[in-house]
Amino acid sequence: MGFVREISDDLRSRVYARDQGRCRLCGQQAFRVVRIEGTATTPENLRVLCYECGLARPAERLPVGGPDPAEVAAAIDRRIAAPEPERPCDEPGWDWRGYRRTHLRPASSRGYAR
Ligand SMILES: [Zn+2]
Repeated sequence: MGFVREISDDLRSRVYARDQGRCRLCGQQAFRVVRIEGTATTPENLRVLCYECGLARPAERLPVGGPDPAEVAAAIDRRIAAPEPERPCDEPGWDWRGYRRTHLRPASSRGYAR
């Protein structure tokens, strides 16, 4: 209780490779490995997220070989300044719950083949 087991570099690398370095929510360049829920440190409970999707997640260590934070910040600045939304989630009033429903399988079927 209160103690969360650290994700080893080896496991982090394997999850990063399994998810092909792409955010599991939006498909953008992944930024870090996070737990899906609870504290279990198993491949089934880990996934990679991009910087933006990961902002809402508890802080975790960066994956090995992650992107340069300065480049990520510059990309966010470009998105903020873009005249047209670059992604669905940049639209004002974006329905993220609806997006999750239509783009993600239920958690119960999200196991990974080994
Ligand atoms: Zn994302």
